[in-house]
Amino acid sequence: MEGRPRDGRSAPRGLRARDGHDDSRPRRDEYLEALGAGMELIQHATGPLATNVYLLGDPGTREALAIDTAIPSAAWIAERLAQRDWTLKLIVSTHRHWDHTGDNAAVQAATGADIACHPLDRDGLEHPQPLFAPFPIPPSVPAVDLAEGGVIRFGSILLQVLHTPGHTEGSVCLVAPDDGMLFSGDTLFAGGWGRVDLPGGSADAMVTSLSRLALLDDPLRVLPGHGRPTSIGRERPLLELIVRDGRLPA
Ligand SMILES: [Zn+2]
Ligand SMILES: [Zn+2]
Repeated sequence: MEGRPRDGRSAPRGLRARDGHDDSRPRRDEYLEALGAGMELIQHATGPLATNVYLLGDPGTREALAIDTAIPSAAWIAERLAQRDWTLKLIVSTHRHWDHTGDNAAVQAATGADIACHPLDRDGLEHPQPLFAPFPIPPSVPAVDLAEGGVIRFGSILLQVLHTPGHTEGSVCLVAPDDGMLFSGDTLFAGGWGRVDLPGGSADAMVTSLSRLALLDDPLRVLPGHGRPTSIGRERPLLELIVRDGRLPA
């Protein structure tokens, strides 16, 4: 959740504050990519904060995984699954904010998929505190813990869990090493990072988390919770500045 009304802090260097609308070109609210091993990634930006919802599918096994179910995304997810005859195996919440979890219960009811989040953000799913949310946020009950070093595997989908607190206590990033992708939630954006001034936020924890991301390889593509994709290489100047100073830029 980002609330009021912006999600991320922008970096210095004259970059405009990112809010998902910082691009002068028309926004695409959906894109589809073919990945290695036949895997497919579908993205959809939705809801009042233009949250990026991701569907990852393996056409071989017809298994799929959803990342961050912003309201409204349940109908979009159901439609994309039906078009491809995919079975949703898991709903992953990168963190507990309402703009990433609002349709968890609806998607679970429609698909039977389990919900996964970090244990430190579990209570936020079970007892949503929809700060600034323009609609009610139904509770959802995670069945799967995403802990540091954990692995999610379905068919040829492989995701490794990095615990990256700072935006919330239980924020995670997911690395897909075979596909060279990082799902960064609200931890890292194109040209910025997630707010640390909301409940559970911590600038110190964010510095540590971003410093970890600085250890990743430049070609790794970054698929954030809001806004356009980027890469570790493109964010490296910002990440290295944070590593060097040991604090977030003012
Ligand atoms: Zn968000
Ligand atoms: Zn958030």
